[in-house]
Amino acid sequence: NTPEIGSRTRTRAIMEKYGIHTKKSFGQNFLTDLNVLQNIVSAAAITKDDNVIEIGPGIGALTEQLAQAAGEVLALEIDRDLIPVLNEVLAPYNNVTVLNQDVLQANLPQLIQEQFTHPERPVKVVANLPYYITSPILMNLLASPVEWAAICVMMQKEVAQRLTAQPGTKQYGALTLAIEYQMTAKIAFNVSRRVFVPSPNVDSAIVVLKPRTVPLAVPPFDKQKLFGFIRGCFAHRRKSLWNNLQSTVGKTADVKEKLRTILDQLAISPQVRPERLTLEQFIELANALHSAQL
Ligand code: SAM
Repeated sequence: NTPEIGSRTRTRAIMEKYGIHTKKSFGQNFLTDLNVLQNIVSAAAITKDDNVIEIGPGIGALTEQLAQAAGEVLALEIDRDLIPVLNEVLAPYNNVTVLNQDVLQANLPQLIQEQFTHPERPVKVVANLPYYITSPILMNLLASPVEWAAICVMMQKEVAQRLTAQPGTKQYGALTLAIEYQMTAKIAFNVSRRVFVPSPNVDSAIVVLKPRTVPLAVPPFDKQKLFGFIRGCFAHRRKSLWNNLQSTVGKTADVKEKLRTILDQLAISPQVRPERLTLEQFIELANALHSAQL
C-alpha cells in the first residue's frame, strides 16, 4: 500500500529516487500536506463530470487528488526533467495526461478539444501556481475564449488579497478590476508556508474564481482601452484622480473643462484617489471620455 504522493514520506522518497532538486527559477515549492490538497479539491468542487487543467503538477501531489475526483485531468508542466517522474508516479491513473508545456505558450482551447474525451464538459483550472508568474497566468486565463467553470488556485497571500480587495483599500487596483470584470473572487482558505518543500518566504492562500452571474450594469465601449485607461488612473496611486487623469488625457484648458463637466455629471469628485472608484464608475468614466473624444 503506497502512501499518497502528497504525504511527506512519499514526497521525500520520490525526490530521492529520481534525484530531484527543486528549481527556484520555475517557482517549485511542492505541497506536502494531504489535508490541504484535499481541501483544494473540495474548494474547486470537483466532480466526475469535470475536466480539469492543472498548471505545474510538480511531482504530482495535487494531480493525484484531482485524478481521484475529476473525470479527466490535463496537467501542463514546463520542467521536462519532471515528465518521466510524473508518468511513472501517475501511471495508476488512466484519466491523467501530462504534457511538457509552458502554460503561457499553450493554446488552451485547442488542448481542451484535443486532449479531453468530453471537451463539452465543464473545464476547471486547479493549481498550486508558480508564484513568479501568478498575474500573467491569471491574465492569460481570463483573456482566453474558454468559459472556465471555475479557477481554483493557490498563490501568495498578498496577491490573493489584491484579487479580492474592496474599493478604498490599498490592495485594490488594476488587477482587482481585471478579475472583477469577468469573475467573482473569494479566498477559500490560507495556507502556511510550512507545508511546502522547500518552504517559500511567503504565506499562501487559495482563491476561487467563478464566472460572474450578474452582468455588468454598463458595458465598456472597448475592453482593451478600458483596462489601458484603468492602469493609467492607477499610475500614481497617492495622487488624486484629477492628477492621474491629466497625465492620461491631457491638461489644456479645453480638456480640463470637458473633464470637469464629465466628473460633475457622474458625481465623481476630482479629488478622490483612484482606489475609491468602483468598476462601474471606471467604465462610465472611460465611456464618457470616449464620447467626448478625450
Ligand atoms: N503542483 C505541485 C504541488 O502542488 O506540489 C507543484 C507546484 S509548484 C508551486 C509550481 C509548478 O509549476 C512547478 O512544478 C513548476 O515547474 C511549474 N511551472 C513553472 N512555470 C511553469 C509554466 N510556465 N508552465 C507550466 N508549469 C510551470
